[in-house]
Amino acid sequence: MIRKTRLFTPGPTPLLPAAQFAMAAADIHHRTPEFRALYQRVLEQLKTFVGTKNDVILLASSGTGAMEAAVSNLTSPGDRVLVLSAGKFGERWVALANAFGCAVDVVKAPYGQTFSVDEVRNALQSDTRAVFMQATESSTGVRHDVEGVARLLKRAGSSALLIVDGITGLGTTHFDVDGWGVDVIIGGSQKAVMIPPGLAYLSVSDRAWEAMETSRNPRYYFDLRKERKNAHKGESSYTPAVALIAALGAALDFLAAQGGGDLATGRDALVDNAEKCAAMTRAAVEAMGLRLFAPDSPAAAATAVLPPAGVDSGVVVKELKNRFGAVITNGQGEMKGQIFRVAHIGLFDYMDTIAIIGALEHVAVSTLKIPGFEFGQALAAAQKVFAGETPSPKHELIEAVSAR
Ligand SMILES: *Cc1c(COP(=O)(O)O)cnc(C)c1O
Repeated sequence: MIRKTRLFTPGPTPLLPAAQFAMAAADIHHRTPEFRALYQRVLEQLKTFVGTKNDVILLASSGTGAMEAAVSNLTSPGDRVLVLSAGKFGERWVALANAFGCAVDVVKAPYGQTFSVDEVRNALQSDTRAVFMQATESSTGVRHDVEGVARLLKRAGSSALLIVDGITGLGTTHFDVDGWGVDVIIGGSQKAVMIPPGLAYLSVSDRAWEAMETSRNPRYYFDLRKERKNAHKGESSYTPAVALIAALGAALDFLAAQGGGDLATGRDALVDNAEKCAAMTRAAVEAMGLRLFAPDSPAAAATAVLPPAGVDSGVVVKELKNRFGAVITNGQGEMKGQIFRVAHIGLFDYMDTIAIIGALEHVAVSTLKIPGFEFGQALAAAQKVFAGETPSPKHELIEAVSAR
């Protein structure tokens, strides 16, 4: 049979065709009324997508650029900061805060697990200036409790800023950014918004803008106050990634259309869609007799699965690619060979989910030779989740988008 390549990866994720067309047509200069109109519209849409009244800043970089911007703009050398780390991306916060001379406290949870709010409370000091965390740790498939940490900071009367890497959390998790008091939340273009890599965005609270008045770490390209000033005029400080911004506008239009014309409704549908695809996938792999790597606090962004004992997870990755054209991810760093990850963030729907489970069944039968497992058992478990026979979220899946 022919193999159609499909990404089941937690970034880059599959591209929305309408966004690809918008990119191809984006032959405009950035110091023109045309671009200013586009930029202002997309920044407004992004606020709705993030779910905040705060300004959202768009940067031409991958997600890590916005993480660096959060550290460089909001801290000074010697500041005490707290990082909640449970995987590769938590470790990135530690490395970034160290690079900018912060005194870094760390609450660490083992890979595959999350930390408790009590552990965070115990690590919080009176002079903690900022708390950095992931909403979802893509390297392990774990969801962290952003709301719980935000509530804790409020209850403790802490002046620490809460800075959330929501790069795979946005679009897979319901947030009340302003209600909970999240000061900064960061997203990336190659994740839930279904466009190529190259843009990062972050919402910034009033408290965080104030903190920038006195923070002393160096910054130049990622100077958020400068970007904000220019954004209010419909411009970016330097040459923006024009084509990606056009694509982002088209993707947010698509989500609005999914929500019957309302972007917030479309975003909620996207989140519930990811939740449902993830629930179907979890039920399926458990029906195969495989174990989830993060059973206690699984993210809807991606499902991490342990291969049978003694089997390298790379075998599953390779078989899915070679036999079915399905690209999933191995573990990162020292988790390589230990887990495989199937993503649900962005443009995945019922059809995609059933297809990857069907392909996994072949790998389970002919490659992994899982004893007692027969064709259809994993699919049946997923179908029951979809049909609502097993508890799952309320919204429907996003409508299938053809023209892959
Ligand atoms: C993808 C991702 C990032 C950013 O990585 P970039 O390669 O810089 O875009 C950061 N955090 C999480 C949780 C991610 O999934």
